[in-house]
Amino acid sequence: MYSNLGEGEQLRASERIINEVAQGLRSLEEAVTWFSALEQAEQKAALHEVVRYSMQAHATVDDGREGLLRSGIKPTMTPAVLIVREPILEQMGKIINLPPAEYVKSFRVLLSTFAVADTRRRETKCRGTCSHGWHNLS
Ligand SMILES: [Zn+2]
Repeated sequence: MYSNLGEGEQLRASERIINEVAQGLRSLEEAVTWFSALEQAEQKAALHEVVRYSMQAHATVDDGREGLLRSGIKPTMTPAVLIVREPILEQMGKIINLPPAEYVKSFRVLLSTFAVADTRRRETKCRGTCSHGWHNLS
């Protein structure tokens, strides 16, 4: 199969949706609707993807606390309890290994946390112009 890279490269649906939420171009609710319609294995892959982006954006526990407030998830629920603890990367690893019944709640918490971290990154390191495809959605 011929792969056309470089200019005009297509972002995968998941990559686009996750980053559109982070940039305020799409609501969290829309992303949750998309996520809920995925197969379980795809949901797990999407959770891994959000964690990978959060690592790239250098998410912190403070981002987790702020993200949780925006996630619509009660602070007593399992992914919520985990996201506010150090070390954040280890906690995110625990969140993506929760049972499937926790996937939607986990997606809300992780995506909201990524949005906080990515927004800070866009406003600092990426300010002006950057070459990240996911920061230059068209
Ligand atoms: Zn960027």
